[in-house]
Amino acid sequence: MPERSESESRKLLRRLRDVLSVPGKGQDRLDSITHLIADSMGTEVCSIYLFRDPETLELCATEGLNPAAVHQTRMKLGEGLVGRVARSGQPVNTADAPSEKGFRFMPETGEEIFSSFLGVPIQRIGEKLGVLVVQSKDKRGFSDDEIYAVEVVAMVLAEMTELGAFIGDDGAMKALHKQPVLFRGGTGQEGAAEGRVWLHEPRVVVTNPVADDPLTEIERIRAAVGELRVSITDLLEAEQLDKEQRQVLEAYRMFAQSRGWLRRMEEDIMRGLSAEAAVEKEQSAARARLEQVPDAYLRDRLHDLDDLSNRLLRILTGQGADTGAEMPDNPVLVARNIGPAELLEYGRRLRGVVLEEGSVGSHAAIVARALTIPLVIHAGRITSEALNGDAILVDGDQGIVHLRPEETVARAFRDKIAMQAEAQKRYASLRGLPATAKCGTTISLLMNAGLMADLPSLEGSGAEGVGLFRTELQFLIRNKMPKRAELAALYARVMDAAKGRRVAFRTLDIGSDKVLPYMKPNDEPNPAMGWRAIRVGLDKPGVLRMQVQALLRAAAGRPLTVMFPFVAEPGEFSEARAHVLREVHREKSLGHRVPERLEIGVMCETPSLAYAPQSFFDLTDFVSIGGNDLKQFFFAADRENERVRKRYDTLNLSFLAFLEHIVARCAASGTPLSFCGEDAGRPIEALALAAIGLRHLSMRPASIGPVKALIRRVDLTEARAAIDRARDEGAESARPALMDWLAAQPA
Ligand code: PEP
Ligand code: MG
Repeated sequence: MPERSESESRKLLRRLRDVLSVPGKGQDRLDSITHLIADSMGTEVCSIYLFRDPETLELCATEGLNPAAVHQTRMKLGEGLVGRVARSGQPVNTADAPSEKGFRFMPETGEEIFSSFLGVPIQRIGEKLGVLVVQSKDKRGFSDDEIYAVEVVAMVLAEMTELGAFIGDDGAMKALHKQPVLFRGGTGQEGAAEGRVWLHEPRVVVTNPVADDPLTEIERIRAAVGELRVSITDLLEAEQLDKEQRQVLEAYRMFAQSRGWLRRMEEDIMRGLSAEAAVEKEQSAARARLEQVPDAYLRDRLHDLDDLSNRLLRILTGQGADTGAEMPDNPVLVARNIGPAELLEYGRRLRGVVLEEGSVGSHAAIVARALTIPLVIHAGRITSEALNGDAILVDGDQGIVHLRPEETVARAFRDKIAMQAEAQKRYASLRGLPATAKCGTTISLLMNAGLMADLPSLEGSGAEGVGLFRTELQFLIRNKMPKRAELAALYARVMDAAKGRRVAFRTLDIGSDKVLPYMKPNDEPNPAMGWRAIRVGLDKPGVLRMQVQALLRAAAGRPLTVMFPFVAEPGEFSEARAHVLREVHREKSLGHRVPERLEIGVMCETPSLAYAPQSFFDLTDFVSIGGNDLKQFFFAADRENERVRKRYDTLNLSFLAFLEHIVARCAASGTPLSFCGEDAGRPIEALALAAIGLRHLSMRPASIGPVKALIRRVDLTEARAAIDRARDEGAESARPALMDWLAAQPA
């Protein structure tokens, strides 16, 4: 890097800072900046384009283009060369702009006479703010040094934008982090919540993007990187790291040791940036790359680099994870992603959770569901936009988040929450009443659980028992395999809390999306159909046996119900059952008490089981339909894949016919049958299930009220007739017919 350009860019930055340090109107400042940059770069044109909304850029200041175009010329993201820079987050440098792909002629700016074009993004850690452009008449490409200098200036502009330097009542720019923003994501857990943003990792605020003394800054960055390296080594040496944590830390160490990373930051500092701004510049570049990388592994590594930059910024600014900010009374957690244990630590204090990543089946989603906290996943870049304390509305039903909402939106939202609360009150009044339909049939409503935190809902919801206790959750929230005694104590507490009500403990369903942090992950091409659940249990029976022992000890003579997940063949069931009976025998021979009544059942989650021989139905004590898995295999539609997840209706008449077949098989052998997939908690679906003969439905506790209210309103024989009519008419789904029929029922 030539010494001349170093001092040039430093000089430029100093002039820039001087301009910005004088109080002034936003527009005046922007005008002086474009003038100053064009002057320093020796170009005829310098323009600043800023985002008006996430899709539209506006020319906000220019030196050299027609001044009348300011605040008039606009372009869409991706449109023209400026839009291309904004979309890609990468500079565009060309000596012959009109011949570039995507060039857009804008007569109002007089642009056609400028041949050379250099545009760089104005962005701050992945947050796109605008584009800085220099242009000149002569056909010249800008040198690497010149690009570099303009990038450094753009970085400072981004910091200044963040600090509100261009906001004025003159309309130069709207204030950042002040406007309402809508995020459309996906549903992780239904429910609505209003609250204030609580960032899991608060944004680090950099107040000094420009520094006068590069040598001091270089010393600072070297010291900070040194501290970072030591802290990573310390973490790596700590005991009790699981393999995945160790791998992430190794990747951190590799980046932290990378000479290229430190060298690039030192070069930025030599150009005039402060140590903090240099870290952010690298981080922004990594984020821009992140968006372009389709490969999941590489994306993970770039995420690691992102995390590392945050750590480095915290060291430099002294702004630890604990910024001293106080958690609001009604916190809505906003994070890129979060682990199940961390989420559990926040617990029920949270009103809602909004994640940039996550998936319906992620561990965090499972915990949010258990805690009944509304969760929205895939919420764009909300961590770049939200600030601690911002007002936020979470609509878990629609997967929508309103950040800093307009009052009218907030009011409509509050009405919705009030209506839901009103409905909850109505449901509470039904708590002690049975779910008896008008035809006299009673449906027993049970709840699904998996954490101790779920158990208080047993009283409140009016559930008759726990139809599905997902034991893997206890395994998922730990960082090492729980011991038998720990599990026994926990299961005993669950049974105590159930006060004699039946709890169906499902043995471990790991594999597929549920990967234990301390178990070697298996690289399987299709984990949902891979080595999971009872397949793992039978191939490596140590854990299954340990779990059964814990259950037997917990029961200490009380009745016990156990069921196996994902059984595809009767042989798997009888083998698993034999393990349980062997453990009972062993416990007895050790002089321990064994359950006074033991039920051993099975989940029907694969279509094959529905066609098992009669002897299987005679052997099993009960069958519980795991509709989530059963439906995904029936329709060959991945329940984790947002694209196909909702493609097939549960009320599709082929699926209902298949469920009826299972009802008939169980009825023929007198085998009790229940349904414990998510559909059991959706009122219309629950109604259809009851209509076709299911008598036990297990669901999220919050669904019990709405399902009960609906069942009590209707005659199930009539509902059944509506379904049959739809079938006779050749419909694909029973939903329209059922809805029409329901609409005609008295409220
Ligand atoms: C199911 O598959 O329907 C079920 C209840 O099990 P899980 O959702 O835990 O796979
Ligand atoms: Mg399942």
